[in-house]
Amino acid sequence: MTQQILTVLGATGSIGCSTLDVVARHPEKFKVFALTGHRQVDVLTAQCVQFQPKYAVVLDDDIAHTLRARLCEQSCATEVLIGVEALCQVASAPEVTAVMAAIVGAAGLLPTMAAARAGKKILLANKESLVMAGALMTRTIAENGAVLLPIDSEHNALYQCLPSCDDTVTGVNVRGVASLTLTASGGPFLHTPIEQLHNITPDEACAHPRWSMGRKISVDSATMMNKGLEVIEAHWLFDVPPEGINVVIHPQSVIHSMVNYVDGSSLAQLGHADMRVPIAHALAHCFSATDRLTSGVDVMRLAQMGSLTFFEPDLVKFVNLRLAFDALRADATGGSAAIVLNASNEVAVDAFLNQRIRFLDIARVNEQALNTLVLGTPNSLDDICAVDAQTRAWATEHIQKVSF
Ligand code: NAD
Ligand code: MG
Repeated sequence: MTQQILTVLGATGSIGCSTLDVVARHPEKFKVFALTGHRQVDVLTAQCVQFQPKYAVVLDDDIAHTLRARLCEQSCATEVLIGVEALCQVASAPEVTAVMAAIVGAAGLLPTMAAARAGKKILLANKESLVMAGALMTRTIAENGAVLLPIDSEHNALYQCLPSCDDTVTGVNVRGVASLTLTASGGPFLHTPIEQLHNITPDEACAHPRWSMGRKISVDSATMMNKGLEVIEAHWLFDVPPEGINVVIHPQSVIHSMVNYVDGSSLAQLGHADMRVPIAHALAHCFSATDRLTSGVDVMRLAQMGSLTFFEPDLVKFVNLRLAFDALRADATGGSAAIVLNASNEVAVDAFLNQRIRFLDIARVNEQALNTLVLGTPNSLDDICAVDAQTRAWATEHIQKVSF
């Protein structure tokens, strides 16, 4: 195949913009079919003018009206569509070969599933969709000949270090894989005593020391929920049980993760903390497993990196990481703990960003949600969405009722 036809879901976000940065470096290899965004009309207008996609998708009429007017002023022929159904259409259109799934949160689930059903190559940044629907999504992918390419830097690193398996993700206990080690920077409060975490502001929580990211994942990194979601993500991507996944704190974010083999070898992937590296890897993989593309990121000079340090995570301080392991273990015998944890966390993070609860309350809400809501094992996408909705309603009401 000489060209990939690409839909970028969440084009206006941090991952979306990094994706288009890499795509722009290889105009002969990629054609953009559709770009989607929520509220950032200026960014989406500029992206449409630059990449001339067939479609742009937004979520409401007012934004669509403004976007259409701006595109008309710039003589851009991109057609503007509206709503979740349109997100699913551009993720599954017959012309499309690859879909970057970079919407944040549960909102990414339906379009990502649409891409899976349509047999697309899915470049998965939207970890929340896999956390919610891991069993269903991996089954749908297998049944429809779709391919899941991890964008999360840790999972992309693992993917690069696993034995190559013709584009399919592999499991532990095959080909000598013993376990996976996910690295974590530890976020901005790694060394902050727990007593001082109470008064953290949203801007302080979003000031990540290594990575520049959207606000939701930045807060998740500060609470280490992000690493918890990544443990569940690794379980589904690589078919590894919770006891085969370790987390190690590595504040420099140079080693992005590693695969440990039964002979004592560990293979790690290193690189600058810039998401264009895993994005370029996955984009190249759309052509072949051995292709590489330039990303705009320099090769790392180790002598300039100084020393690399590693230590165990503090599960008393970072409750969310413990909760994620608990949820993954609980779901092994049936249940919907991962969906509950993800939904509760989205509501709690939103409440924190809007200063309705404090930083440490995020994990409290999540723990209370897991202890309170026992919602059965979901068997379909509708079941998953129902558990998500029930949890959101519970968490919203709980936050209003309880004075934290
Ligand atoms: P972001 O907030 O910067 O961007 C989110 C994108 O989703 C935007 O385009 C926004 O318009 C769109 N969006 C938001 N709400 C929506 C809704 N309800 N419906 C449709 N579209 C909606 O987020 P980000 O940092 O780019 O993260 C995107 C995803 O990638 C997340 O799942 C995150 O966990 C994952 N991820 C991000 C990074 C990173 O470095 N930023 C790294 C690894 C994984
Ligand atoms: Mg990550």
